[in-house]
Amino acid sequence: MTEIIDGNAVASEIRTEIADCVKTLEDGGVTPGLATVLMSDDPASDTYVSMKQQDCEEVGINGIHVEIDPDAPAEELFDTIDRLNDDPEVHGILVQLPVPDHVAKRDVIRAITPEKDVDGFHPENVGRLVAGDARFKPCTPHGVQKLLAAYDIETEGADVVIVGRSDIVGKPLANLFVQKAPQGNATTTICHSRTEDLEAKTSSADILVAAAGVPEFIDGSMLQSGATVIDVGVNRVDADTEKGYKLVGDVEYESAKEIAGAITPVPGGVGPMTRAMLLYNTVAAASEQTGVEIELP
Ligand code: NDP
Repeated sequence: MTEIIDGNAVASEIRTEIADCVKTLEDGGVTPGLATVLMSDDPASDTYVSMKQQDCEEVGINGIHVEIDPDAPAEELFDTIDRLNDDPEVHGILVQLPVPDHVAKRDVIRAITPEKDVDGFHPENVGRLVAGDARFKPCTPHGVQKLLAAYDIETEGADVVIVGRSDIVGKPLANLFVQKAPQGNATTTICHSRTEDLEAKTSSADILVAAAGVPEFIDGSMLQSGATVIDVGVNRVDADTEKGYKLVGDVEYESAKEIAGAITPVPGGVGPMTRAMLLYNTVAAASEQTGVEIELP
């Protein structure tokens, strides 16, 4: 029987424990605060930010939301980030990406003070992650690690293949898997659009992570029997639904499920974990900045 990895259930447990951390912080006189900044009129970005704010409310984190006109000068965004960097009630800052073309994403990432960079994208935090001294693990890779741990799926000695080398998923996840640390110690291969004979790589994986953003392009024939399949992809494809689309992963679920030992669905796999780990990083940031100790899950 293939095990269906239930991201909603694991994320829900983590959120409960984070709510306890929030109580401990409150007892110490600290209300953790997360600022989200949206400079976009993309409906998907708007939805993501709203969900993050809703998640904050549910666990007792003070959500602060700032919207900036996408046509405004870049300075307006940088001034906002400076203000939030200086605000002691804000412990975490998240600028929803992508930002408009006239704003340099690289500069946005560097403008957020590393102590409040709960996405973990600032070069200082990337460096610390690579060095095995992570301050904030980026939310999606951290969520993947937690999912595997929740299902006792051992990474030590495993052949892990990650399809995708983005700065937010593929690269940081590979860096976590190669650490000499719990949920690490894996032999890790990163594949991308220039990889030759992708199938030879994917079919050697004990744990296959798909993070390419290409709908359902990995099917059962590309997998090793019994492999664990973690599908990070979230893709909208046209469908005869009320909204006119449905969400699918990078993995063709039905055929992959026949071959895999364990698999994440889309939706309901990695997505809820990403959201939970943002809350995790926010309470971690609040604890670090105020000295009120918490026990993170
Ligand atoms: P990017 O577009 O930044 O990166 C995609 C990566 O996949 C690139 O490295 C690219 O290679 C590689 N790739 C693309 N096509 C192929 C192919 N045919 N064969 C092999 N490699 C390929 O995407 P993200 O990392 O930001 O996101 C990946 C997916 O994960 C998306 O569907 C996104 O929506 C989803 N996502 C889901 C999250 C969640 O919480 N569930 C969170 C974040 C993202 P190259 O570098 O050579 O171009």
